[in-house]
Amino acid sequence: MKILRTKEAMRAWSIAQKAAGKSIGFVPTMGALHEGHGSLMQASVAKNDVSVLSIFVNPTQFAPHEDYGQYPRTWETDLAMAEEIGIDAIYAPEPDSIYPEGYATYVTVEGLSVGLCSGTRPHFFRGVATVVAKLFNTVLPDRAYFGQKDAQQCAIITRMAQDLDTGVEVVEMPIVREADGLAMSSRNRYLSEADRTTALCLSRSLDAARALLDAGERDAAVVTAAVRAGMAAVEIDYVSLVDAATMAPVDTIERPILLAVAAQVGPARLIDNLKFFPSEIELGAHRPAEAETCC
Ligand code: AMP
Repeated sequence: MKILRTKEAMRAWSIAQKAAGKSIGFVPTMGALHEGHGSLMQASVAKNDVSVLSIFVNPTQFAPHEDYGQYPRTWETDLAMAEEIGIDAIYAPEPDSIYPEGYATYVTVEGLSVGLCSGTRPHFFRGVATVVAKLFNTVLPDRAYFGQKDAQQCAIITRMAQDLDTGVEVVEMPIVREADGLAMSSRNRYLSEADRTTALCLSRSLDAARALLDAGERDAAVVTAAVRAGMAAVEIDYVSLVDAATMAPVDTIERPILLAVAAQVGPARLIDNLKFFPSEIELGAHRPAEAETCC
């Protein structure tokens, strides 16, 4: 497994792979790897000739008051996990080389960046879209793997990859959870034992919402109220039910939706979500008229 520390070395490696006719899969991360990251790496290794993992704690997606300085850095165990899964190269650049003095270019994805996490983290998606665009330009992947855990981020990156003509196929992978349902996150290690138990109310509230949706509830206010009630023990940032494609708030559930939550649990800000697709019959009832007359 190659460790590449500079843009130049990374790009040269990728160009050589492409010249040899190999497809490149890419998994961007901030390190402190867990099985959620592992599932992305496994998907990449299974589908592509070679796979690159990036480990870069991206300063532009953190506000000054956030945890950039404390973000867990677990280099040795990350390397062992990547090697075991079969990653071919790790790209781990220094922040100064990604954002040298005079750096002035940022990527903003409009529309999708409104609401949900941008409420309390207004800087966040600009930083993420910018760094991922830069990573794509250096790693030159054919496919890039992201987690549904960060569903709004995934939608934004998919849009950015299309709009900027990157030619990169963005693949969204399911949320990987602990045995008791807690969504895996590098920030879970901030939790005390008591916080860890309290944090379970996120996934449990989403499970309860899923039961309501499966039972036919289609009023978004009823579903979000149930989730809020289930999360009474934590400091809720948001409970939002939005159109899964546009991230716009939804009143009546009649198309694929994302139900997303964020909360402060002790020292950690945690997020979780579910996607729900109404049955084909319901979707058919709400298809636009022209689709019905088509063909
Ligand atoms: P991060 O290192 O937190 O920036 O995450 C890197 C990638 O791993 C992102 O695409 C995340 O969505 C994804 N990821 C993080 N946690 C999980 C999880 N529990 N299940 C699946 N993917 C995840």
